[in-house]
Amino acid sequence: MDEYLIINGTVVTLGDDNQIINDGAVYISKGTVADIGTTKELLENYSDVETIDATNQVVMPGFICAHHHLYSTMARGFSPPGEPAYTFEEILQRLWWKLDKALTEESVLYSAYIPLIESIKSGTTTIIDHHASPSCRDGSLSLIADAVEEAGIRANLSYEVSDRNIPAAGVAENQRWLEELSSRDPEFFQGMVGIHASLTVSDETLAKCREVAEQHDVGYHIHVAEGVEDHEDSLANYNKRTVERLVDLGICGDKTLYIHCVNVDNNEIDLISQTDTVVVHNPESNMNNAVGVSPVLEMLDRGILVGLGTDGMSSDMPAQMRCAHLLHQHDKSDPRVAFVEAPQLLIENNAQIANRLFPVKLGSLEKGAAADIAILDYCPPTELTTNTFLGHLIYGLVNATVDSTIVAGKILMKNKQLQTLDEPSISQRSRELASELWSRIS
Ligand SMILES: [Zn+2]
Repeated sequence: MDEYLIINGTVVTLGDDNQIINDGAVYISKGTVADIGTTKELLENYSDVETIDATNQVVMPGFICAHHHLYSTMARGFSPPGEPAYTFEEILQRLWWKLDKALTEESVLYSAYIPLIESIKSGTTTIIDHHASPSCRDGSLSLIADAVEEAGIRANLSYEVSDRNIPAAGVAENQRWLEELSSRDPEFFQGMVGIHASLTVSDETLAKCREVAEQHDVGYHIHVAEGVEDHEDSLANYNKRTVERLVDLGICGDKTLYIHCVNVDNNEIDLISQTDTVVVHNPESNMNNAVGVSPVLEMLDRGILVGLGTDGMSSDMPAQMRCAHLLHQHDKSDPRVAFVEAPQLLIENNAQIANRLFPVKLGSLEKGAAADIAILDYCPPTELTTNTFLGHLIYGLVNATVDSTIVAGKILMKNKQLQTLDEPSISQRSRELASELWSRIS
């Protein structure tokens, strides 16, 4: 369908001027939002086009995930041999660095398919992914891109450079992917220079990363101060904290994502603010790894653009938003905080981040914006207006079932039926590949 109308829904536009239109409609043409109004108005103006009925549903912009790890799929249910990991470094060594090293071409591909399916089922239409597969490194981002293209969503991809196996491993894969982007649709695919974390890269490796990033005019996607190990390593080896080290080496800026920033001090927060570097908060992951609470509210106060990611835990963005809301209230022992800020991370800041990285308007329904839409089953039990929207988002929409997901006007899920990927057969093959992978690392 090149053009159609979504009618009879509660349209939530988000964006700079959030509007809620009861009995609203959206006119989609050539992949973009061409008009928004009441159902009556739009049916009059566009009388001959097909319609999708969104009665008892909320029609809103698709969600954006600012930090994902598609490769983490096959960790689900796996128990690494030996004693349970206690420190963050042990979690990396006993689980993640074994799992990523054991990934083969096919398991990279199927690891991507599963969270892509989950993204579509959660209404997530754009992801920023951070990939690692040391035994199947070269070409891995193209494999993932092919899965993303089949799924039909948008992705910014990068490979986690690290020295842990071979010095500067992954620089060439980022370079190769950034070159390949000239043959991919820029509205769907973008790239950055991925770096695992300060503690796994030398200054020489970071200089190589910088060369590639400058050549392609992109930023960096790097874990920063996730566990205490990052700044302990930086202090021991470079006599400065992690953010000081990265900023001194030019690994910062408005297109760069610092992921986590749990253990950052005041001076580091100032540096992040001064360099307009983006921070991405992953509350579920931080709680899962028991690494502490990122000072998100303080960073927002200092004008830092803080977004929200899943860190591979899931693809469900409203769930992360509510987790952030509860975590920061609990952390501050103050029920007055984070009610506005947690939704802001998801619906305003992730849109701003995506709009820094993609050449198409994302995260709002307005004329000319991308037709990236999530349609959720939701009958509001109290009045739903712009004044009450955040309450509905945190306590109601967060649990609403996604009925349909649309990207660039293309319907990827309709009436809860996936249109682009076959979940049972993909999951079946994933289970076979996971079982082989588990036996390789056990
Ligand atoms: Zn991560």
